[in-house]
Amino acid sequence: MIFFCLGFRLSALSFIFTLVSDTIISVKNLTKQYSTEQAGGIKNVSFDINRGDVVAIIGESGSGKSTLLKSIYGFLKVDEGEIFFEGERIKGPDEQLIPGHKQMKMVTQDFSLNIYAKVYDNIASQLSNTDLKTKAEKTLAIMEHLRILPLQNKKVIELSGGEQQRVAIAKAMVADTKVLLLDEPFSQVDALLKNQLRADIKRVAAETGVTVILVSHDPADGLFLADQLLIVRNGELLQTGKPSEIYQNPKHIYTAQILGNAVVLSRGDAEKIGLKTFAATVVFYPEWAEINNNWSSRRFNVADVYYKGFYDELLLERNGVTVRALQLNRGAHKKNDHVQLNIGRFLEFH
Ligand code: ADP
Ligand code: MG
Repeated sequence: MIFFCLGFRLSALSFIFTLVSDTIISVKNLTKQYSTEQAGGIKNVSFDINRGDVVAIIGESGSGKSTLLKSIYGFLKVDEGEIFFEGERIKGPDEQLIPGHKQMKMVTQDFSLNIYAKVYDNIASQLSNTDLKTKAEKTLAIMEHLRILPLQNKKVIELSGGEQQRVAIAKAMVADTKVLLLDEPFSQVDALLKNQLRADIKRVAAETGVTVILVSHDPADGLFLADQLLIVRNGELLQTGKPSEIYQNPKHIYTAQILGNAVVLSRGDAEKIGLKTFAATVVFYPEWAEINNNWSSRRFNVADVYYKGFYDELLLERNGVTVRALQLNRGAHKKNDHVQLNIGRFLEFH
């Protein structure tokens, strides 16, 4: 009886474990270089992606984001390493007639839409004609998810960049796609509509269970919507994890800079403003520096005040060292004021 209970408990545990760690894509030691002489491509990258997650790959232009996305899709012949989709190795373009993967779809910056055809027809073209009722139902359903139902009879050429992006995503998703790969999905969308598209991608992923991998050079895209964030630089994966974990505990100075506009100081400069450290470099986000009269606060001169909407960013100077701090109480300080600053938390890089 005891053995039975134990066995039952163990199998229940492993069942729960499978539920929480359902890997859909696994990238193992992937390397893709375009030529031997020059840098470029990606180097020895490994990570897993959970089913249903929204994953954001963040990095500067030229860091290898599109290379990574195309490799996952099976569009590039990789040099080393393997990629698995539901445990099965993804074939490269040299191993099959039509490159790509049936259950994945990639939306690139050129959208690949028929601009003279109607929105509805662009999307419906992905489904077979064997069951016309299902074809219509699925097309209308995905248009509803992406809030483009009212555009169904318009030609693509009549739409804005943001609307075309939505049509391209709907077209990519309509045929039971399990993984949606989006290359810079926000690059052609106005700032105002960006927030809405971001939120919609997150909602559609949650509603349909599709796994989304998107790449962006703008970290704001990733922080806001991703379940998992990957930071790439020069073809290397610097760090991966939940956005909040990476933001709070960046492993590289670069990560803190790209995510949070961090203040980076040498040990010498850190000491000049009263931070004691043995590390070579000290890093903190502006919001970790607080203007108050704590025992540990130090006097700074306000070198400049930048208006940032709902807060001010203060450029503060002490002993020739400048740092940035946030002031939510807008207008509280002006240039040449003196303030007491307490840097509550900072990271040390050796
Ligand atoms: P990202 O999408 O992050 O801007 P890419 O993956 O497009 O970066 O490119 C990464 C690097 O590889 C860049 O230095 C780029 O110039 C180089 N690269 C990309 N595609 C090719 C190609 N087809 N041939 C040669 N070099 C390439
Ligand atoms: Mg790119």
